[in-house]
This record gives sequence, structure tokens and C-alpha cells, in this order.
Amino acid sequence: MAEIKTKILERPSPFASLIARFNEAANIIDLAQRFRDILSAPERVMIVHLPVKLDDGTTRVFEGYRVIHSTVLGPSKGGIRYAPFVDLDEVKALAGWMSFKSALVGLPYGGAKGGITLNPKVRSVDELERITRAYTRALKDVFGEDSDIPAPDMGTSSREMTWIFHEYSRIYGYTPGVVTGKPLGLGGSKGRVPATGWGVMRSSMQAIEKLGWDANSCTCAVQGFGNVGSWAAKLLLEQGLKIVAISDNTGGFYNEDGLDIDGAIAHIKEYGHLGKWEGGSHLTNEELLTLDVDVLVPAAIENVITGENAENIQAGMIVEGANGPVSAEADVTLDRKGIFIVPDILANAGGVAVSYLEWVQNRRGHYYSEQEIQVKTNPILSTAFEQVYEAHKTYDCSMRIAAYIVAIKRLAEAIDLEGNF
Ligand code: NAD
Repeated sequence: MAEIKTKILERPSPFASLIARFNEAANIIDLAQRFRDILSAPERVMIVHLPVKLDDGTTRVFEGYRVIHSTVLGPSKGGIRYAPFVDLDEVKALAGWMSFKSALVGLPYGGAKGGITLNPKVRSVDELERITRAYTRALKDVFGEDSDIPAPDMGTSSREMTWIFHEYSRIYGYTPGVVTGKPLGLGGSKGRVPATGWGVMRSSMQAIEKLGWDANSCTCAVQGFGNVGSWAAKLLLEQGLKIVAISDNTGGFYNEDGLDIDGAIAHIKEYGHLGKWEGGSHLTNEELLTLDVDVLVPAAIENVITGENAENIQAGMIVEGANGPVSAEADVTLDRKGIFIVPDILANAGGVAVSYLEWVQNRRGHYYSEQEIQVKTNPILSTAFEQVYEAHKTYDCSMRIAAYIVAIKRLAEAIDLEGNF
């Protein structure tokens, strides 16, 4: 029996959202048709069917994907997502965003993404291990430290990366650089776990400074309390922001005086979700998104702000921890309302920046301290922010379209240098 796919009904196509932004940016810089054609279609799309024995002795066939959007700037890089709603359209969009993100922050990488349609919460650890190893075997000729390098994404962590690393190394010999986001004891990098939340914090602080706000009087709501959201909340709190609302897929919590973020993190460690936490009054995810806060950090899934609810958003700034949380249609309304958006390909690039450093360390066999990681990561992120901000002023466009412009220019230049192929 095949795993049943949970469709999110009537959600806008994430890939269509990517193409809409891409076309808008391409029009502004009058991008030649050749580059438009190359960059709006992924290089490779792979669908794999993985027969896996479940704990009850039956066999289930899981559908998995790997999409390589571009390798023009280097080996493709991108996470692997385990969620019941994963489908090809979503993985294509996530792969494209990885290409633009790597290009934007100047990493020697192309972009890819993978996923398996499954609910990790209802699978045992043994089942998840068998599924992950089957996925690795199915893609053994695609993955490689010089070709395609996975990392964690929603529903996966250092545990799944370890299984991929180990399964791949059983076939090809010890290759830690084939995957990033590994545990520290197996070639992982210091600073990788908080890296994406760290980048969200850094870009929020740069945006707050550009807008002339005082961080100590800013309120903030964070949707999604997994790796990205919990670290972003903790680090923004340390910068003086008051975190008044958080949520996960079980619902949200609100306290106008500020929430106990360490308490929420401890609760997640014990129970796996916010569920019965008692740190604030309850609110729904929809209510959280429309709170009157200074900074809203969507750090869960795509398309949580769409044409349906964009008019109700009251935040002054949105910093996109998640990939694609705002649909292209919603952008129009948010721009009209004057909401400053730090787009996903900029705001959440901290993860891939530290993944890059992990890959460098694995290949050199030389490891950096936490401080060295920060010293190397911060300029990557802050330079990209400044370049996007400059393009936003130069082209008189949103930060999102400015980010696409910076990325597209780098990709088009590389394609041009390669010549005719
Ligand atoms: P995660 O699995 O650690 O956490 C996801 C969180 O979102 C969980 O708290 C979950 O309960 C919540 N969530 C899921 N569905 C929800 C819903 N419908 N409403 C509200 N909350 C919901 O995942 P993560 O690694 O933190 O990734 C979150 C987002 O950040 C994804 O879009 C991912 O692509 C993006 N991202 C992650 C990284 C990384 O390094 N982990 C890097 C860049 C971008």
C-alpha cells in the first residue's frame, strides 16, 4: 500500500509563487529570454518509490523526490523534508529557492531539495531509519560531496543526516561531506543547529536598524517552534525584543508581557510539541499571524500568508524564517500596506551558510570553534543583506524582488561565462 498523501486544499502552488517573483525581477533587469528559460525549469527531477517493511510486518511504498534546480554555481545543496503534504510542486519550489539563496549569499553551490511524503510523527524510529536508508540507496548516484549535498529540513534532523552519511559511506567509503547537519560527534559543525535562527535574528536586527526602530521596544510573534522558530525566538529575545506569541502545529500561546521562551523550549524537549504548555493564553495560528506586533517571524511552512489573510496582517515587518510563507498574491497587499519583508532566501540563509562551513571542514579534516564559525558566517549574511537593501533602493522594488535580482544576476553571469551548451 502506498503512503496516503495529505493535500493542503487550495493552497497556492509554491512553484508558481517562485516563478511569479522570478518573472517580476527578470522584467525589472530586462533579463534575456535564454536565462529566463534556463532558470525557470529545474535541471533534474527525480521521483523514487521506496518499498519499506513496517514494524507490523507489512510493506508500504513511500514516494520520495529529489529536485536539482541548478548546478551552475557548484554542486547542488538543499535539505530533505519529511511531511505528509510533501509533493513535487513544493520540492521544485524549494529547490529553486535554494539556488537563489546560495547565489544571493555568494556560496559556491547550486540548489536542490528533497522530500518524502510521510508523517514522521506516526513512524517509529526504526521505520524512519529504514525509509531514510532506502531513500539514500535510491539516490546514491545523485548524492555526492561534489554533486548533490543534502541537509535537514522540516521533519528531519541530524539523526536522518547520520543515516544518509552512513548508508552512503557503506557504498562509497567514508564521505562525511556528502551531507551537512550531522551531529558534532560525526563531523558536524559547531553552530549548525542554531544557524538558521541565528540568521533570522541577524537579518531582523539589520532590518530594525535600517528602519530606525528600537529593538528594546519591539514586540515579536513567531509561528512554528521547531529548529528555526525556537532559535529565532530565543536569540531575538536576547537582543531585547519581547516575544509575545509563539505557536506550533498544535496551536499558539500569547502573553502581552512576553513569553518564557526557555520554558517553552524545555516543554518541547519533554513532550515534542507545545501542546499542553501553560505559558500563556491560547490563540490559533491564524490569530498569531494577524497580531499587532512589530516583527512577525513565520517559521513553519509555505503559504501561511495568502490573498485570503494578507489584508489582516498588522505586523510592521515580516522576517521569513520559513521558505515561502507568503504567497505571490499576498505580496501585492503587504507591499501596499507598507510592510517591510525580509524574504526567505535572505532571512533563512544562515543554515546553508554554516552547512557550507561544515562541508569545508569535512573536506579539509580541520574543524572550527564556535567563535570561528560566527566570525566566518556573519559577514556572509550581513553583506548579502546590504546588497539586497541597496538593490531595493536602486530598483525601487520590495526587498524580496531585490533579493531575486541580486541572485538572478549572479546566476545569469555564470551561465553566460560558461558559453553555449
Ligand atoms: P521543524 O520540523 O524543526 O519545525 C517546524 C515547526 O513548524 C514545528 O514547530 C511544527 O509544529 C510547526 N508547524 C508545522 N506545520 C504548522 C502549521 N500548519 N502551523 C503552525 N506551525 C506548524 O522545521 P524547521 O527546520 O524549523 O523548518 C521550518 C521552516 O524553515 C521550513 O519552511 C524550512 O524549509 C525552513 N528552513 C529551515 C532551515 C533549517 O536549517 N532547519 C533552513 C532554512 C529554511
